Amino acid sequence: MTARTGQEYLAGLRDDRTVWLGHEKVDVLTHPAFAGSLRGMAAYFAWQQTHADDCLVADPETGRPMSASLIVPRNADDLRRRHVAFDRFARYSNGMLGRTPDYVNVTLAGFVARSDIFTAKGDTTFAERLRRFYREVVERDLSLTHTIIHPVVDKSLPDLEGVNGQLALRVVRRTKDSIVVRGAKILATLGPFADELFVYPGQPQPPNADPATLLAFSIPMGTKGLITLCRDHYGVAASVGDKPFSSRFDEQDAFMIFDDVEIPNERVFIDGDVDVYNGLMRHGWAANIMQQTSIRAAVKLEFAYELCARMAQATNSDKRPDTAAMLGELWGYACLTRSAIKAAETDARDWGNGAFFPDDRPFRAVRANMPGWMVRANEIIKTIGSHNLLATPSLEAIDNPEIGPLIEEFMPGANGMSARERAKLFRTAWDFAGSALGGRVELYERFYLASAPRNFALDHMFAQMERPWTQVPDMLAAAEVD
Ligand SMILES: Cc1cc2nc3c(=O)[nH]c(=O)nc-3n(C[C@H](O)[C@H](O)[C@H](O)COP(=O)(O)OP(=O)(O)OC[C@H]3O[C@@H](n4cnc5c(N)ncnc54)[C@H](O)[C@@H]3O)c2cc1C
Repeated sequence: MTARTGQEYLAGLRDDRTVWLGHEKVDVLTHPAFAGSLRGMAAYFAWQQTHADDCLVADPETGRPMSASLIVPRNADDLRRRHVAFDRFARYSNGMLGRTPDYVNVTLAGFVARSDIFTAKGDTTFAERLRRFYREVVERDLSLTHTIIHPVVDKSLPDLEGVNGQLALRVVRRTKDSIVVRGAKILATLGPFADELFVYPGQPQPPNADPATLLAFSIPMGTKGLITLCRDHYGVAASVGDKPFSSRFDEQDAFMIFDDVEIPNERVFIDGDVDVYNGLMRHGWAANIMQQTSIRAAVKLEFAYELCARMAQATNSDKRPDTAAMLGELWGYACLTRSAIKAAETDARDWGNGAFFPDDRPFRAVRANMPGWMVRANEIIKTIGSHNLLATPSLEAIDNPEIGPLIEEFMPGANGMSARERAKLFRTAWDFAGSALGGRVELYERFYLASAPRNFALDHMFAQMERPWTQVPDMLAAAEVD
């Protein structure tokens, strides 16, 4: 098998996974709350088939179709090809799904490209395992989620100290063929709907960190002892017209508990080596993954801009200076994002071992600023949309012979827009920015690549390392200021 269909994806979820939703242990495939999300994910796989020219490429080893997100990037053409696929994948949900499988695929392909990091000390065992795992993902078109963050309870302490260290995932036993791990990890977006959970380093750890906690591995979601503890589900049973996003795109985040989980050695990629653990994220991870995340963000910001422009037209307010200024501001964020992608791709380079990744500097700037832009986009939607976001009859009500004609009479848009067109528009906007799912997506944008303050602080650190800073003293000296 290679690139799967929606039906094949759903069939793959039939296993013994332990998933808790609220107070119940649930069967993912039959629980009514998940029906819309599963249809939405299955349709993602159908989308890659419908748009095969953009989303799929020939697997270099077998010639069979594989997701372009799994290309191991070796040159500018690879990045161009991936760009087309990322853009097309993002258009499936207009950026409202963050953890479509192409996200972790890119990371995995990037790690394969930098397999030298795993072999730095001359032992090829881990790199070979990673390569075999990658082939399995290609050939089975697996859908991966990831958890890379330790559950930090006490934020005054480092990740692995005190109470934080007690909860952190660690090796508690070893057998000849496996390690047994216990602990927790945050936060698996797509957790219950994924085939595998990929665990790899998030934050760097000090040289004296407990080696038992320095791990990377991947396991099927149905592995014994692996518990997927879901947050409340925000998907709703409604038509796509009434709830364009909540009806399909709740990608369900989950807290992951490892209750003595056995990981076969074959699936362990880092086991206690702090240099490999810290090196993996330092040498190109952000540059590689952020091509995908930035293209998704650009598609989403462009969608938000068009949505706002249409809302303003529906109330004939698009030429009012305050509204036009907000529309221009939003368009600016979209343009800056596209420009950053272009700059990062133009200055792409060999990061080592022939891994051809974009320049990370424009992406770092996007990473720190994007959470603010996404939050601002939602604020603009609410400001332009105002009460109209809530005065939105359902499409079924408009079809109802008793109330429908009155709605048509009293709730039209400006410029001859019908009540139905107006309702579709404002319902989309509310589901984007204001519904329970919209609120969750905003939280995702704030934190999925770590918080903005953390990233701004990192940017400052990189800026200091980039070059000697002498502009200020040079200016003072040139002006002969003592
Ligand atoms: C909806 C959602 C889905 C997610 N999905 C995944 C996933 O699938 N896989 C995964 O691994 N992770 C995922 N994450 C990310 C992860 O769960 C954490 O949210 C992320 O690592 C940030 O950690 P935190 O939430 O503890 O916030 P913190 O990093 O503690 O940030 C909280 C606030 O504290 C302040 N702060 C913290 N540290 C600093 C600092 N160093 N300098 C300045 N200010 C600071 C800032 O004001 C910041 O906004 C997801 C997060 C969300 C919200």
